[in-house]
Amino acid sequence: MKVFIQLLIVMCILSTLQKNIVAENESNEDKLQMRYALYKKTEALTQIPWYYFAAIDQYERNIHKETASKSGLIGITIPSDKWNGRLNPNESNRQHIGIIELFNGFGKDGDGDNYADSTNDEDILHAMAEYLLSYGKTKQDVKIAIWNYYQRELSVQTIMNMAKVYKTFETLELEDNVFPVPIHANYSYRNTWGDPRGFGGRRIHEGTDIFANYGVPVRSTTYGVIEMKGWNRYGGWRIGIRDTRNIYHYYAHLNGFEKNVKVGQVVKPGDIVGYVGASGYGPKGTSGKFPPHLHYGMYRDNGNTEWSFDPYPYLRKWERASRTH
Ligand SMILES: [Zn+2]
Repeated sequence: MKVFIQLLIVMCILSTLQKNIVAENESNEDKLQMRYALYKKTEALTQIPWYYFAAIDQYERNIHKETASKSGLIGITIPSDKWNGRLNPNESNRQHIGIIELFNGFGKDGDGDNYADSTNDEDILHAMAEYLLSYGKTKQDVKIAIWNYYQRELSVQTIMNMAKVYKTFETLELEDNVFPVPIHANYSYRNTWGDPRGFGGRRIHEGTDIFANYGVPVRSTTYGVIEMKGWNRYGGWRIGIRDTRNIYHYYAHLNGFEKNVKVGQVVKPGDIVGYVGASGYGPKGTSGKFPPHLHYGMYRDNGNTEWSFDPYPYLRKWERASRTH
């Protein structure tokens, strides 16, 4: 009964939302609310927690240049041969579920029209939900399902971590950012992206150096999960945080870590993770080979490879935003 009422509420919300099919000028907040309603509806129908859909969907949004969804709300994109069934001679993206079942396709009907449409948000989510359900409902089941779907360790880890963030904050509105050191601290930085650097052979400088005193707090700039923590020959004591947009934030040359900070931990913008130092450029514990600074890097992942991009414009933006608050 309770589930039925929940479902009814969600469906009411959804039908009002769908009246105005996602217009170009729809605000970001509206989009997130509509997405959230779609995830919750699929959760009500399948008992798979919404945050797994949110995580898979966000992950796919980041790896596809173009997504299949007609409304543009959902990012999960299922290739038509997979959706329709590999031996299905019909390549149309909307087919009767009987046909799709016959060819053992991935496609499902989520909106109750008896057609599985690979561009329909509810059908896409329902197909993904049924796929996950075929493995079971526990976290471990979902993880195995995701592994079998993407066959890539980083994809599994990223999706499971994103799910953890969504579950923790119970919202999709996780786009706030802060500058990595407190705005009132003494610091300076300039754009050093692509500069050659002295240590470790021919590498370019993949990040921005923020010069500050030893011990100035280093804060997470985003919502995310601590993916890596430890020593690296170049970076010294460093920490890596992946955010919900699948961007990896790298904080290096730390003096030390904040107490109790550990891999797998969920963080929000402003959470202190460590302190500015001058560690690195040698074996474990090496320090003082250069003035203390925070090396801040950002990396993107397209589902196959990771590459760094210039964090400087973002730092400027977050700094300005912090100043006006
Ligand atoms: Zn640097």
